[in-house]
Amino acid sequence: MKASYDVVVIGGGVAGCAAALAARRHGKTVLLIEKLTVLGGLATTGHIAIYLPLDDGYGRQVIGGISEELLKLSAKYVYYGDDYSRWKEKGMRYECKFNAPAFSLALEEALLDEGVEILYDTLFVGAVVENNACKSILTQSKSGELEFGCKAVVDASGDADVFHRCSQATAVAPNNLAIWLYATEATNLKTQLRGGADAPGLKLVSLGTVDTSKSHDEISRPYYGDSCESITRFVVDSHKRLLDCIKLDSSVVPASLPGMAQIRMARRIEGCYVLSTKDANMHFEDSIGGTGDWRKPGPVYEIPYRTLIGSTLGNVISAGRCISTSEEAWEIIRCIPQAALTGQAAGSAASLAIDGDVCLQSLDVESLRETLRKDGVILDVNKR
Ligand SMILES: Cc1cc2nc3c(=O)[nH]c(=O)nc-3n(C[C@H](O)[C@H](O)[C@H](O)COP(=O)(O)OP(=O)(O)OC[C@H]3O[C@@H](n4cnc5c(N)ncnc54)[C@H](O)[C@@H]3O)c2cc1C
Repeated sequence: MKASYDVVVIGGGVAGCAAALAARRHGKTVLLIEKLTVLGGLATTGHIAIYLPLDDGYGRQVIGGISEELLKLSAKYVYYGDDYSRWKEKGMRYECKFNAPAFSLALEEALLDEGVEILYDTLFVGAVVENNACKSILTQSKSGELEFGCKAVVDASGDADVFHRCSQATAVAPNNLAIWLYATEATNLKTQLRGGADAPGLKLVSLGTVDTSKSHDEISRPYYGDSCESITRFVVDSHKRLLDCIKLDSSVVPASLPGMAQIRMARRIEGCYVLSTKDANMHFEDSIGGTGDWRKPGPVYEIPYRTLIGSTLGNVISAGRCISTSEEAWEIIRCIPQAALTGQAAGSAASLAIDGDVCLQSLDVESLRETLRKDGVILDVNKR
């Protein structure tokens, strides 16, 4: 056993960062384990640099707390001028575009400043479970195989890796092929290079879903993110698609490739409640926050605490894009603001369960809600 912590967070994406901050602010020792060498997950390494809206599309803010804090942090060091501070007045949605490397650096600075311990380049590979509680987690890295003791674990792996490794029920979903990358136009680049510039203007390019009319038969298959073979197929096919585009259109000059597979939906837990689109505008007594639908104004969802936990493991909680939802509701819940929202709830719930010496299933949800309310989370958005 290398060391023991109150809370171990697996995954340093937006959900894991929010969970780590929440647990730390509630006085817990926190270790965050990340297999890559930067924070932010898909939002940064995956080149997804749009912080989707915190509002309902009609000018009402429905997400606050750490999610709002991270939206501001995403633009703290490099600001693209999105006037998110005057969104309502300007009739805009409360969202912003951000610079991924600057967001990643700001996240790392914030976590370290608040006393979260980070271990990079370290892969979570398993857990020691006794009496329905995870006693320690197992990792592999350059240091070899290390074991870390824990009182609670937040599964923010994006893919429900902890629940899966602990043989808990999970579900998977098919994905469309995607590749978002930074690119510049060849003519633009040549002009700039001739003028002595060494940093050509870049823009985020999405080559999006495969157009089957272009007879990319082999890449129009649905993609799953639950095995190394299917992830490899997604990555290789998306690279092939990019290469095809470059061959067809020499004006596209790629400047980067995403550092992780851009799979929107991989594995999610089958929790104590499965949130579905039928739950739009419904109130839940155990809601830990709410969200609008980034695709259209109107529907507002409250997220029940039960979507974060399974029925068996007493000290493992999920956050981010692997919480328990139907495939349709996943489209809404899997995004950056919701990852931060559920991360804050997971980190807070783990801390309260440790304080009360209770399992997550027996947690007094009203005291969790009270804590979240005090910490800026907007609750009961559908309560009339
Ligand atoms: C193509 C595409 C477009 C999108 N567009 C948008 C958009 O415009 N706006 C928006 O808000 N959202 C968008 N999303 C969704 C959003 O980016 C993600 O769903 C969100 O960032 C998920 O955050 P997360 O923290 O839950 O998971 P992730 O970002 O996946 O973070 C998980 C982290 O865990 C780490 N990890 C995983 N397994 C292990 C392990 N075994 N050991 C250690 N570390 C591990 C990973 O390296 C990663 O850093 C898009 C997603 C895709 C794929």
